[in-house]
Amino acid sequence: MAGSPRVGVLALQGDVREHAALLAGLGADVVLVRRPEELSSVQGLVLPGGESSVIDKLSRSFGMQEPIRAAISAGLPVYGTCAGLILLADEVLDGIEGQQSFGGMDIAVRRNAFGRQSESFETSLSVPVLGDAPVRATFIRAPIVERAGVEVEVLAALPDGGIVAVRQGPLLGTSFHPEVDGDTRFHQHFLENARAYRRSAA
Ligand code: GLN
Repeated sequence: MAGSPRVGVLALQGDVREHAALLAGLGADVVLVRRPEELSSVQGLVLPGGESSVIDKLSRSFGMQEPIRAAISAGLPVYGTCAGLILLADEVLDGIEGQQSFGGMDIAVRRNAFGRQSESFETSLSVPVLGDAPVRATFIRAPIVERAGVEVEVLAALPDGGIVAVRQGPLLGTSFHPEVDGDTRFHQHFLENARAYRRSAA
C-alpha cells in the first residue's frame, strides 16, 4: 500500500513484540526478521532492546550478521533501541569477551553505563527534532554514547551531557525504550526513513 512501508523487527531476542505492535499501530506492514530472505523483503529494520551480547551471538549463528551489515552499508534505515543501539555502534565498550556489533554508526557506546543504583529509571527528555513536547524516556540497564563522530547528530542528552539519542543518515538509535512508553515519534521518524528508502529503491 502506498503509505505503509514494509519494515522488519529483528526477532532473535528482546522486546520484539512491543516494537511490532507499535509499528503495526502506525500502519506499517511488519515482518519478524530471523532469516536473510525476510531481511531482503523490508525497507527498514528495528533492532530491539534486550541483551546485545545474546542478539550478537544469535545473529551469527542464524547467519544474519553479514546480511545485516551489508544491508546497513547499502543504506537500509535502521532504528536501534538500547541493546539495538549497542548493535549499531562501530565500537562497543564493556562488551562481554568477543562481543561484536553490526556497526554502521560512528559511535562508541558503553554498555550498562548507569551502574547498579540506577539500573532502571524514567525521565523526561527534550528532543528538538521531534517537536516541543518532551519525550518520556525509560532507561533499563541502558548504554550511553561516549563518542560520536562528526557525521553523527546528537538528538538528545541527559542534563549531565550524556548522549542518549543519535542519528547518522538513515540510522537512528536511542539508549531508552520509546516502545514501552507509548511515544510513537521515534518510530514515526524511522517509518519516514523507510518510506524515503522505498522511494529511492523504486
Ligand atoms: N544491558 C543490555 C545490553 O547490554 C541492554 C539493555 C536493554 O536493551 N534494555 O545489551
